[in-house]
Amino acid sequence: MERIGTRKLRVMLVPLPLQGHLTPMLQLASVLHLRGFSVIVAHTEFNSPNPENHPDFTFIPLKDGVCSPSANLLDMISAINTNCKEPLEKCIVELQGQLSCIIYDSLLHFVDTVAHHLKLPTIFFRPSTAVYMQSYLSLLSLHGKMIIPLPGLCVSPVLCKHTVYNLMYDLTTKLLAESHLEEAVPELHPIIRFKDLPLSVLSKIPQVVIDFVKSFSDIKSSVAVIWNSVEILDDFSIHQQYQVPFFPIGPLHKMASSSSSMPTSLLQEDPGCIAWLDKQALKSVLYVSLGSLATLSSEALVETAMGIANSGQPFLWAIRPSSVAGSEWIECLPQGLRGVIQERGLIVKWAPQKEVLAHPAVGGFLSHCGWNSTLESLSQGVAMICMPFFGDQMINARFSVHVWEVGVEIGNMADRKSIEEAVRALMVDEQGKEMRCRAAEIKHKLHLSMVKGGSSCRALEDLVEFITSLSAPK
Ligand code: UDP
Repeated sequence: MERIGTRKLRVMLVPLPLQGHLTPMLQLASVLHLRGFSVIVAHTEFNSPNPENHPDFTFIPLKDGVCSPSANLLDMISAINTNCKEPLEKCIVELQGQLSCIIYDSLLHFVDTVAHHLKLPTIFFRPSTAVYMQSYLSLLSLHGKMIIPLPGLCVSPVLCKHTVYNLMYDLTTKLLAESHLEEAVPELHPIIRFKDLPLSVLSKIPQVVIDFVKSFSDIKSSVAVIWNSVEILDDFSIHQQYQVPFFPIGPLHKMASSSSSMPTSLLQEDPGCIAWLDKQALKSVLYVSLGSLATLSSEALVETAMGIANSGQPFLWAIRPSSVAGSEWIECLPQGLRGVIQERGLIVKWAPQKEVLAHPAVGGFLSHCGWNSTLESLSQGVAMICMPFFGDQMINARFSVHVWEVGVEIGNMADRKSIEEAVRALMVDEQGKEMRCRAAEIKHKLHLSMVKGGSSCRALEDLVEFITSLSAPK
């Protein structure tokens, strides 16, 4: 099915060079390769995947002009969209019509522009949930209808400060704002509140951000959408707007299972933590990781460390270098606290997360709720403490806690007491046991969705057929 005549069909994948986007795209590459496609990965030089880890794919670097990780992701993404256009066009032209289609990360709209110009079909790839994407469409619609910024939130600049009137005005405004933020967002799942949206609704959204959101929430000329998501976890009613075939084929790290050990990390994984986990009791360890982008203040690091230490539970904590403001790593943790922590825990810079979550000693996950981490946790039946920061993390946390009921939520500014209580609730209390049971049920359901007849398995079969049809003589 994957061949036209004797020729192997060839697809090009263009990933966004951030860990949470690159990983599922490489997993998709692996899934397609297993289905008989020949795979080309056209990637930025910045955060380039290591070709030696993927001998089955052809890698083509694109000059991106991004010299160092920018603190501003929007600037980095827009630089890639501008700078990679020409190199991509040149590379496609050199391939002389050998491609069936290009699958691109939804944030890289330049790919669609180039492909459309060269009359090549594109497929839009989203590494997150459809519900999250829908939240951006809602934001745009609420912004268009001037429902956001929410009323009562803009303090009048003409009122002079330091008057009793102004103090009362500020207090009333704040209370009004807080009550509005707790309200459900119209047209979205009822558990999603204004405060869970990926952009702040407290002030006017800058035009440059609106333009950016418009650029990635529009599928342009794409002929289909691939989601690293699963029917049982998501809601795809967004396709009433998109109106193209869609393929929810997640969880991709499991769908690519025969090559699950395929390394996709941009940072060096510390394998020593597995030997450490081997020595721990069954389901006793709390794994802690906030993903590849979230950062902590040094105060938040100390509060988290104290909360975990006071809970008395063994833990494995992955703390990325430079993820604590003002520190290279964890120098800001007081020596005394480090000693206490080391007695019952292990801190590494980057963990082999999928292996860690699959380890029998792991009984819970304190997570920022990035979508990959959430899927990896659910696929192993591991319940969570949800500490969301930005992007889709608040929505993923809401679903984990209130829909799937496999987590407890704490804010990302939680103090040591709340963290300690959350760890106990998850790891020791009856509540935690119940969450683990529900997580185990979801693990089973996810497994069923991937085997023959399951929704992701069927969607993948349909996707293979769909891509093949794109190359069929018209
Ligand atoms: N990850 C890892 N080791 C770590 C921390 C994270 O391998 O120590 C991986 C994790 O398995 C996941 C990815 O990094 O696949 C993070 O993606 P996610 O969508 O969860 O969050 P993001 O980094 O995009 O915020």
